[in-house]
Amino acid sequence: MSSDRRVRRAVVLGGGVAGLTAAFGLAERGFRVQLLESRARLGGRAFSTPDRTFGDELDNGPHVLLGCYRALRALLARLCTEDGFRQERSLALAFRTKEARTLRLALPRLPVPLAMPWALLRLPVPFAARWRALRGMVATLRRPGASDTLGDWLRRHAQLGVPDAFLWRPLCRAIMNVEPEQAAAADFLATLREAFTGSAAHAAFWLPLRPWHELLGGPAVAALRAVGCDVRTSARVVAAESVAGRVAVLRLGDGERIEVGPDDVVVAAVPWFAFAALWPGLGPRCGELQSSPIVTAYCRQPATAAPLPDDGPVTAFVDGDPFHFLIRRPGDDTRHFAMLAGGNRSFDGQDVATIAERARRQLAACWPSAQFDALEVRIRKEHHATFVAACGTRDLRPVPGRLPDGPANLFVCGDWTATGLPATLEGAARSAEAMLVAMAR
Ligand SMILES: Cc1cc2nc3c(=O)[nH]c(=O)nc-3n(C[C@H](O)[C@H](O)[C@H](O)COP(=O)(O)OP(=O)(O)OC[C@H]3O[C@@H](n4cnc5c(N)ncnc54)[C@H](O)[C@@H]3O)c2cc1C
Repeated sequence: MSSDRRVRRAVVLGGGVAGLTAAFGLAERGFRVQLLESRARLGGRAFSTPDRTFGDELDNGPHVLLGCYRALRALLARLCTEDGFRQERSLALAFRTKEARTLRLALPRLPVPLAMPWALLRLPVPFAARWRALRGMVATLRRPGASDTLGDWLRRHAQLGVPDAFLWRPLCRAIMNVEPEQAAAADFLATLREAFTGSAAHAAFWLPLRPWHELLGGPAVAALRAVGCDVRTSARVVAAESVAGRVAVLRLGDGERIEVGPDDVVVAAVPWFAFAALWPGLGPRCGELQSSPIVTAYCRQPATAAPLPDDGPVTAFVDGDPFHFLIRRPGDDTRHFAMLAGGNRSFDGQDVATIAERARRQLAACWPSAQFDALEVRIRKEHHATFVAACGTRDLRPVPGRLPDGPANLFVCGDWTATGLPATLEGAARSAEAMLVAMAR
């Protein structure tokens, strides 16, 4: 920016993926950036904290990326942490059935539209079910009705039974964090098309090799400061005051008052419920978005125990109840793994001892010859892990950028804005990119 122009200030609220992407982008565009994050750490919903029992950093829940997450990868590249992930070359996952069988779906390194039929037809399930699943894959290319849940879509395309249990339900839980009966078919299929219509690497997992604080929040502080950004953690914005149609004052929880100048902009990169609390009535009723939880049981078998067979980093429990996935961090001791349940409301109100016991019982049912009595379990609960992308939810998600009815200097982004994706790290990063484009107009 030339020295005769005043440097505009941007105040970014929230230090998750959206806020970090926005802060870097604004600094690049010549803004003097101040980032206010309510917690003591950056990273938002992808974070880790030290755990006394396990003696190291424990994530708030496992996060798995896909090769098609280009905007998130751009952020990781800025932080120089892309090498903190194992980048698979094609999609591979295991299934564990209630009959204690392990099945594998592994795509060859061909473009996914060619690789998926080949892999599906090799799944060791009845041929009629494989054929139906294949026809379902073809049906994903057609647009569903706006009021169709994925459950409706599965029924209409004869996908109930084996295709649902092996393919659609695990994918829906992973992508949408709710059951197919709740998920908007359009949002699910749009995401699937994005991941499954390109190269093999596009649909493959990127698996973190280190705790999330080391990959995102920790390095972000130094990287933001290096581009001149003023990073303030433990700075919760509790109120925003507008004067003449512009945000003029932000108030912090400790009473501090932050003046917003006439040329300054404010970027809200906070979750939907926090936005609705700060600006009630603004945005298209975003306060009506529902939250969906993620519950994770981090498990450690004692060193003397025979480890579970290593079936790769992601195993889906077929008809899994209460947990849906078993996830391993590549390179970790195979006795260490996480069990994850997305959107399972049966945990609501349950204490950690009860949840840990449910995890042990499920493991014992799936691996009857293994011993889980001495299994150490740590529970992590995230009540607001994602919003529910249900039918009609699109009307509640504002376009990233300035709100039509909002203060003129207020811009909004976050995974819950209208990105065309459900709540994902990639959606958060893309929302900030879209917000920056809108700001330049
Ligand atoms: C356990 C778990 C597992 C997940 N797994 C995956 C996965 O495998 N793949 C995937 O793509 N996505 C996954 N997600 C979803 C993903 O984490 C989110 O979509 C993404 O992190 C959202 O980023 P964001 O920047 O939009 O919001 P957030 O990460 O929520 O960031 C918002 C920030 O704003 C701060 N804030 C809130 N209120 C205020 C305030 N008043 N003042 C100042 N700061 C404030 C918050 O503390 C937070 O740091 C998972 C989420 C969870 C919880």
